[in-house]
Amino acid sequence: MASKSRSTVADGNHSYPPFYACYLLKSLATPNSQRTYVRHLPGQHNGELTQGAWKTSRFRPWEVQMIVFGFPSKLTALQFEWAWQNPDKSRHLRKEEQGGDEAQYMFKRDTRRNRVERKAIVAAALVRASPFVHLPLQIRCFSTATYDITSSLVRLRDSDVRLACVSEKANHALVEQVAHLPPADRNLEVTLDLGGLSNSVTPSDETGEAFLDLNDVQFRTGEAVVGKWALLNEINSSSHCNLCKREICYEDQLSFAICPAPMPDLGEPCLHTAHLTCLAKHRALPRGSGADEIVPRRIKCPSCNVSTPWGAVVRSCFGRRDAVGT
Ligand SMILES: [Zn+2]
Ligand SMILES: [Zn+2]
Repeated sequence: MASKSRSTVADGNHSYPPFYACYLLKSLATPNSQRTYVRHLPGQHNGELTQGAWKTSRFRPWEVQMIVFGFPSKLTALQFEWAWQNPDKSRHLRKEEQGGDEAQYMFKRDTRRNRVERKAIVAAALVRASPFVHLPLQIRCFSTATYDITSSLVRLRDSDVRLACVSEKANHALVEQVAHLPPADRNLEVTLDLGGLSNSVTPSDETGEAFLDLNDVQFRTGEAVVGKWALLNEINSSSHCNLCKREICYEDQLSFAICPAPMPDLGEPCLHTAHLTCLAKHRALPRGSGADEIVPRRIKCPSCNVSTPWGAVVRSCFGRRDAVGT
């Protein structure tokens, strides 16, 4: 476990936690077991969740089906966990358009609510629902069943509902409702990983140790982070902040951000570079969209106009630092 640090981003010791995460477990207690359970990382192994520990030891062994990670705080991971576990009560999954006082929820409390297929659909709905749609989340699946469902649903449009990979008839109506939601953030990727981790867990290693190497390596060392840094050096661009025009210290990777927008297939990538502090102050977003908060929720790149969750901007700095080694 990474030790908790009280330091701030500025002093260079802060470790942006890459795995505030929620994961879906399926019981292998019997061949036909349909039982699933949602948990969060890190933590959840102390007294506060004795109930959870009891549940997991009772129906052991469990197999990790999929994990949603990239939450910027423990609180958001807990909110996601609760909604994933209780979609029939979650305000994030309420149908807005219905009139009347009765809250209309997308998911009903029926007999299929704990099956893997249903849980994968709920996860796809949640990453499209506010506030999670604004977070820099990633999904990794450890079974083809969860991968087929979530990868086909995270950006499914109304017109493509028939293409959804959902086998159980009872879930077809749900798919239509998921398609009504705004699509997941464009940076969200669903990946399939059939061998990347020993995906059987026992209660003793559910504390998170088994997941320690499961961080967002792809994002942190990806083209948009390391590739842009290499480009910036290559073209020998001036080391000045594009916002305040003052010098940027390239040695301190955590002091500045390079636009984290994905590399385009064609054309020039955006290399807008600015002090993190200048970027946080800049916030070219209207009030009500996070502009009045101490820490911005999203940043719109002043150069290419691509909007990125603040957590992803900060994470890209840490990714660059780790890759470059300064
Ligand atoms: Zn600046
Ligand atoms: Zn940009």
